[in-house]
Amino acid sequence: MKIALAGIGKIALDQHVPAIAASRDWELAATVSRHGKVPGVPGFADMAEMLEACPDVAAVSLCLPPVPRFEAAAAALRAGCHVMLEKPPGATLAEVHALADLARAEGVSLFATWHSREAEAVAAACAWLADKTIREGRIIWREDVRKWHPGQDWIFEAGGMGVFDPGINALSILTRILPVPVRILSAELDVPANRQAPIAARLQLSQGITADFDFRQEGPQTWDMEFDTDAGPMALRMGGNLLEIGGAPAGGENSIMGEYPALYARMAELVRQGASDVDLAPMVLVADAFTLGQRREVAAFDF
Ligand code: NAP
Repeated sequence: MKIALAGIGKIALDQHVPAIAASRDWELAATVSRHGKVPGVPGFADMAEMLEACPDVAAVSLCLPPVPRFEAAAAALRAGCHVMLEKPPGATLAEVHALADLARAEGVSLFATWHSREAEAVAAACAWLADKTIREGRIIWREDVRKWHPGQDWIFEAGGMGVFDPGINALSILTRILPVPVRILSAELDVPANRQAPIAARLQLSQGITADFDFRQEGPQTWDMEFDTDAGPMALRMGGNLLEIGGAPAGGENSIMGEYPALYARMAELVRQGASDVDLAPMVLVADAFTLGQRREVAAFDF
């Protein structure tokens, strides 16, 4: 099936282009981006122009930041294309509900992807936790925004989500592996004096789970989740790629290279089945953290 990729920036080039190239299901037939290009692939600056010029494109995969994504997604759905959304699936919950309704009305598939759920050890952690009771949990998600999001000012604008852009990856794993629903009890948000979105956040969730998200970590990066359960400790490290049970390695592989191929395989399966997959649980937690969060002004931040 022919697919178009929109928003040719860091993640499109790092992950989407190689995953599509390696897929037996998809052929990259067009790009939509004002500046970004993929060598050898017809490029368009505008979604409407691409949809008009490429009627054989069956699906559109959107890698734009969340705020400008809705209009592009709605245009593709209205043109009868299946649509795949990078995480977070939109700037607001209401707009993703609207896209899901539109996909249903058009009879096409909508896939709100959560790449971290495809990490190497997430399925094993989910299976292990299924019959356990969690007594306490700690999420520590600390990375260097200058390394992973160089110059991306949109991330600190309203709707850019700030540190919740990576933090939502942890919440996507959490909402996949926990055997019971989880909710936000309180939140503290550290917002740089010159920005709109938090650079760090601390959350208290139900089931005794805390989360510590920080965009200012230099040196070694931390993407860990640790749980104390009625059957002893379990941890997921390196963004869900490594599993530890009782303090000892219990599976996984420290590689993110399987995540995007798995997303494109799942998208092909959804199209064949005529189904959609839009799970908003991680985004509900982020929205609730913004609703309940106490704001603290911290030092101005510049890239
Ligand atoms: P990025 O490098 O800034 O790329 C996004 C692209 O979208 C830009 O290059 C830009 O291309 C286009 N765009 C259209 N309207 C825009 C606007 N109003 N502001 C800024 N860019 C606009 O961002 P990214 O890191 O690829 O992230 C894109 C999405 O992927 C985000 O939702 C992010 O959460 C997700 N993601 C990122 C990573 C990562 O490690 N960076 C990992 C996983 C997921 P043109 O100027 O050519 O139009």
